[in-house]
Amino acid sequence: MPWKPKKPCARPGCGRLTDGRFCDAHAAEDRQRHDRARQEAQPWRGWYKVKSWLDIRAWRLSVEPLCRMCGKHGLTVAATVVDHVEPHHGDRALFFSRDNTQSLCKPCHDGPKQAAERAAARAGQPAPGRSPRRVGGV
Ligand SMILES: [Zn+2]
Ligand SMILES: [Zn+2]
Repeated sequence: MPWKPKKPCARPGCGRLTDGRFCDAHAAEDRQRHDRARQEAQPWRGWYKVKSWLDIRAWRLSVEPLCRMCGKHGLTVAATVVDHVEPHHGDRALFFSRDNTQSLCKPCHDGPKQAAERAAARAGQPAPGRSPRRVGGV
């Protein structure tokens, strides 16, 4: 087994020897601090759990139960995701605006272009922007 020199924990006043930068306890603490910092940088992540958002989400899915993008391709696909039409970028007003939401299926939400192409292929139509290889046939 290769011998690795242990170093004291980088946390001032700790001094426990460790393979990493911090000892186990302080490494966990350091990770938590990073998570908190990330949350503070993107407070809107928590907005998805807020009741007013859940209300908007439920309302949107009830008035628009089908995926809007699939609908444009003439497909009937149940929506499972409520998306912001205009990206909110942490803007509270845009985030909590009913009118700024649309119903999408997960594939459309995760990758609109590919999903539309896949959906079109499933429906036996040429994918948008691509000429069909086989016309007619069996
Ligand atoms: Zn430590
Ligand atoms: Zn869709």
